Amino acid sequence: MSKQIRRQIAFLLSISMLATTLALAPVRQASAQHATPPAPANARAASIEAATEAVLRETSEIRQLPILNRVKSGAQSRSEIERMIMKNLEEDTTPEEMHASEVAFKKLGLAPADFQLRPFLIKLLTEQVAGYYEPKTQEFYLADWIDLDGQKPVMAHELTHALQDQHFNLRRFEHWPRGDSDAEISAHALIEGDASLVMQKYLERNPLRALAFVKSMMTSGTSMEMFDSAPRALRETLMFPYEQGRNWVSTVQDRGGWEAVSKAFTDLPQSTEQILHPAKYFAHEAPVKINMANIASQLGSDWKRIDYDVNGEWGYYEILSEYIKSGAEAGRASEGWGGDRYAVYENQRTGGVVVAQITAWDTEQDAIEFYDAYAKRTAARYPNSTEANGRPAETARAWQTSEGSVVMERRGQRVAILEGAPSNFNRNTLMRMLWQ
Ligand SMILES: [Zn+2]
Repeated sequence: MSKQIRRQIAFLLSISMLATTLALAPVRQASAQHATPPAPANARAASIEAATEAVLRETSEIRQLPILNRVKSGAQSRSEIERMIMKNLEEDTTPEEMHASEVAFKKLGLAPADFQLRPFLIKLLTEQVAGYYEPKTQEFYLADWIDLDGQKPVMAHELTHALQDQHFNLRRFEHWPRGDSDAEISAHALIEGDASLVMQKYLERNPLRALAFVKSMMTSGTSMEMFDSAPRALRETLMFPYEQGRNWVSTVQDRGGWEAVSKAFTDLPQSTEQILHPAKYFAHEAPVKINMANIASQLGSDWKRIDYDVNGEWGYYEILSEYIKSGAEAGRASEGWGGDRYAVYENQRTGGVVVAQITAWDTEQDAIEFYDAYAKRTAARYPNSTEANGRPAETARAWQTSEGSVVMERRGQRVAILEGAPSNFNRNTLMRMLWQ
């Protein structure tokens, strides 16, 4: 799964994530009336400061991390928060990177052909943001259009980020090396899972808190429209650090207390596989690193490699479950993941796209399960495709589709896939290059 998609919500809490995580269904019936007229700016600033102090104290107690510094806080208007979101998008992601994510998402059939990632993310984030912690300035901001009492759970979440930052330095997570976003999303699952679990415990201390939160959402005009309309794989990937991350942190905390969670900031989870199966984190089951030759020159002079990354178990779960309607089957097929590498190639003239993948599995049986599932997914992804293959189907399959060919090969515990190559290419040569 692409890095850009995962990264945009770093340290930024959205309503849907909070609501979905806590199963607060009434948030979905949002209306646009303001319950309480906004207080004068000075009074509001003073009450935000007081609330920050109180919630920070409580958060520090729940999380068992001492407060090392005061946290500056403030409220921002919708347009200020929008500006911050745009600025972060521009700083973190080049237009080329964003384009590459969008292209890969579409080629894998996870978003419609007319889907535009960047405007979508901007709209989604501005619609959803409830507050954020800015590690650059160590400040915490609340949305000024949401009632303060109702925002306290958001504060508990964001102030956990402030405590994390004071103890573990969050800025080091902002510029993750390129090419392994599976490890990056896992680190985010730790950061967001930690903050989400603390928020959940903060809410559990007093049932009125959840009620105030739901009420404030209903009266602030918070809309779920964009979130609900997001392509499923995008929505679930955005949710991953919050949902799966919270489950993971909860397991780690059950096993070794908050100390174990704090220790995870130096002994980071390395893959979404470790997040989905905490036993593999405890056992230090490290992902298999895979390199793959750049086949751009083989494809032709107009072709350029625009992305080179790792999908991870979570990525494959999303890719398979989009077309294999049984989530359990997709889950089984992506389990046993050992490592992978994918590359996206784009024809700079025609816009044609080729995706190359090599996956490694724990056992040959795991590789066979994935191979069969990917074949099933491919037939569903390209409904008008025809399968044409002269070789034994257990180890090699090929389809002709309206968007080029799809070729799969299994060798022992590994499966290589080439998707989208125009039919005039010698796919045997290309596959041989992938295997090198
Ligand atoms: Zn967060």
